[in-house]
Amino acid sequence: MSYDDSNIFARILRGEIPCRKVFEDDHVLAFEDIRPLAPTHVLVIPKGRYVSAQDFSETASEAEIVAFVRAVGRIARERGIDASGHRILANHGADGRQEVPHFHLHLVGGRDLGRMLPSARE
Ligand code: AMP
Repeated sequence: MSYDDSNIFARILRGEIPCRKVFEDDHVLAFEDIRPLAPTHVLVIPKGRYVSAQDFSETASEAEIVAFVRAVGRIARERGIDASGHRILANHGADGRQEVPHFHLHLVGGRDLGRMLPSARE
């Protein structure tokens, strides 16, 4: 899948639409999800043009990957959800119901998040 420069996160990165910024460095931008599912719901995105988790893992530089992972941990600590617990997830592709085709992690916490998924056996 090729990168679509008109996706909403590309537009945020270009400053065409606003976001509630949480963190930024040379490689990473983090901002509040517009439809939060918990008291903390931050989206962490690389600044590079990566469609998905797979694309990022295969083609991002080591500097980008390190900056990204460190940013996620830093934001969790700053939000005070390191001790209480939280969830980090990336939706990928059709089965993952990925809506925005620019790689992002959801950092969610601040309440008991329940089980990750319903059991396939229930
Ligand atoms: P995903 O299904 O993993 O692609 O999730 C996309 C996420 O982007 C959803 O949780 C949306 O609420 C969020 N989202 C969509 N548009 C915006 C926006 N303009 N600012 C912040 N979050 C957004």
